Amino acid sequence: MTGKIIAITGASSGIGEAIARLSSERGARVVLGARRTDRLDVLASQLPGPAIVCRTDVTDRADLEQLVARAVGEFGRLDVLISNAGISKIGPMAGLDVDGWSAMIDVNVRGVLHGIAAALPVFREQGSGHFVTTVSTAGLKIVPGQSVYAGTKNAVRTLLEGLRQESTDGSIRTTSISPGYVRTELAESIDDPQTRAEVRENMVRFAIAPEAVARAIAFALEQPPDVEIGEIIIRPTRQG
Ligand code: NDP
Repeated sequence: MTGKIIAITGASSGIGEAIARLSSERGARVVLGARRTDRLDVLASQLPGPAIVCRTDVTDRADLEQLVARAVGEFGRLDVLISNAGISKIGPMAGLDVDGWSAMIDVNVRGVLHGIAAALPVFREQGSGHFVTTVSTAGLKIVPGQSVYAGTKNAVRTLLEGLRQESTDGSIRTTSISPGYVRTELAESIDDPQTRAEVRENMVRFAIAPEAVARAIAFALEQPPDVEIGEIIIRPTRQG
């Protein structure tokens, strides 16, 4: 990863933070995007390598344009965009949490599209670029209570596969990583109290560390340019 310029959304906690730390340790220059810039400032101050903090709300297209523009303006290029920001407003569909559904579509789907719209012209111009997204095993094993969340993740899986097929000139790589339970703050975005309590309990019981997901992403990033790791599934050994 040495010398790569990597922009990460949702870098203020959990998986995004772990990716930022590992990337920086392995010699990348990182652009940290999230809404909580106080956390990003602390993270940037702890990283061994150069880092840009860029307030990013992925629901706002202009913020993704800015994230990419700062990478190119201050570091000279952008090699990787990791669209990792996500929320999980899970709960039974009978709860009719239409606002939560919309919020998930806005962050988990529209947020990724905004990133693609911002970075794709830059990647094409450079002749290279790598899109990485954090999807979920929720989209692989569909379980009650996670339908809409899983739907947003599978929408993104589809987007990246379509983009891959449209980009076989060798310039663009795509990687979708599907984690199972990972010990992060994701449960805090769940509004349904019973579901939140269940997810928190599972996180304590058997979730894996976000660093494990970061290592898997690093594996994809460290491949030579003619090798694309399209899909990665990583879950706790004890997850059913
Ligand atoms: P966290 O809650 O710890 O991190 C979520 C990150 O997303 C935060 O940095 C948050 O930053 C950011 N975020 C949320 N909304 C926005 C927004 N509108 N604009 C920009 N950033 C936003 O959870 P995880 O690390 O677990 O989540 C990372 C990804 O991994 C998500 O896409 C999630 O769906 C996925 N995932 C997680 C699993 C798990 O078990 N933890 C399993 C499978 C997938 P801020 O609030 O500062 O903006």
